[in-house]
Amino acid sequence: MDFLQRSLIEPLFVLGEVVDEKKSCNPSSLVQRLSRFLDRPLFPWKRLILGFSIGQYVFETFLTLRQYSVLQQVKPPAVLAKEISQETFDKSQAYGRAKARFDIVSGLWAQIQNVAFIQFDVLTKMWSWTGDLLLRWAPARFSGEISHSIVFVMTFIVLQQMLSLPTRVYNTFVLEEKFGFNKQTPKLFVTDMIKTNLLTAAIMPPILAALLKIIQKTGNQFVFYLWVFTAGLQLFITTAYPIFIQPIFNKLSPLEDGALKTKVEALAQGHKFPLQELFVIDGSKRSAHSNAYFYGLPWKKHIVIYDTLIEKTQTEEIIAILAHELGHWKLGHTTRLFGISQAHLLYVFSLFSIFINNVSLYSAFGFSATRPIVIGFILFSDALSPLDTVIKLLFNIISRKFEFEADAFAKTLGYRSDLAASLIKLHAQNLSTMDADWMYASYHYSHPHLSERLKALDWKPREALTSEKDKDDAVVKASGRDEL
Ligand SMILES: [Zn+2]
Repeated sequence: MDFLQRSLIEPLFVLGEVVDEKKSCNPSSLVQRLSRFLDRPLFPWKRLILGFSIGQYVFETFLTLRQYSVLQQVKPPAVLAKEISQETFDKSQAYGRAKARFDIVSGLWAQIQNVAFIQFDVLTKMWSWTGDLLLRWAPARFSGEISHSIVFVMTFIVLQQMLSLPTRVYNTFVLEEKFGFNKQTPKLFVTDMIKTNLLTAAIMPPILAALLKIIQKTGNQFVFYLWVFTAGLQLFITTAYPIFIQPIFNKLSPLEDGALKTKVEALAQGHKFPLQELFVIDGSKRSAHSNAYFYGLPWKKHIVIYDTLIEKTQTEEIIAILAHELGHWKLGHTTRLFGISQAHLLYVFSLFSIFINNVSLYSAFGFSATRPIVIGFILFSDALSPLDTVIKLLFNIISRKFEFEADAFAKTLGYRSDLAASLIKLHAQNLSTMDADWMYASYHYSHPHLSERLKALDWKPREALTSEKDKDDAVVKASGRDEL
């Protein structure tokens, strides 16, 4: 156990610092040295975190403005010239611009909140307020750090939710509505919100309690134990989510017998894909958004297809989309992404172990007498945000590479033109952005944009696929770039 733990943690630190052969490179002594180095009395943590936060907003707005000029172009990119009608292109550009403006305004609103939270010590006030609440109303045995943290996090979530409500309402009922995508009624919006809150109230306390207990009990060793726990938790949620949680929001029914089912089963069998069950999900309940995805454990997978996808796409095109998804599985992307997310967790926890006792960070935010773990984690996440930006960029580079590979896989199976046709169709129905500024795309996109994908598929423009036929159809929103 000890060897495993060391061999897992050690490389992280070796990467971060030149290792002196003569000195001990014991990870715990390195952690201690780094912790001491970063814990300087009166270090201006507050100003630093404020600077990071504002810097990130300015950077992201700069990228959005660059993208905005691409969204003002009047002609579709050459590769799409014959595939997309001028009318669809104009609409997609207008939708893109409306979303970009929304991003800038909602980002500014979030930014104002964040600055106010930091400037006015909202965390400190909320911590003492929730502590008073417990002292006054709860039995004495609930006065410990774990109960206090649970009440604090719950209050924090409710507050965040209230503050983000105006932008969420605007997004659903004004922006999406205007372009014909919203299918949610105000009633469904409110019931969804109530359900989500009840679910959070049921799931968050035991998980948070377990996380805090592990840190309290295992002391300096917590990184390894926390990591094992969260990896187990991820596997558990992957299994439990479709059985217990998804049915609360959506209805999954087995796909009816027919050409689609036969073809999907044949595709799965041909590649020894461990297909357990095929479902149709009632995505049309909330949005005209359409999609298809796999879930489940490595040896037992399920395929879920949105009803909206079946309604608006030809059988062969759905098969082409599933061939792309199958490519992700066959090429080991799913497993590698799981590996990457485990490495990321390990990295986050290791860095957290450096900050967990940082007295100067806590006291910069008014926590001098106590150093609650949960507060430490929130402050540490803020201090880490520039590194998160870099990680997001790296993750997107890997993800886009995987998408090209999965497209190439579908192409080798003979689905080149069906995949191209379905991508074009979904983008047109979805009004997805069809071209992008390279800096904006590198930072934000986990999927290559349509023009890039068609070029990689070696797609030659032909007669318009979407212009006349789809003009009369109701607009269907597809996830397009997001999950295909
Ligand atoms: Zn994909």
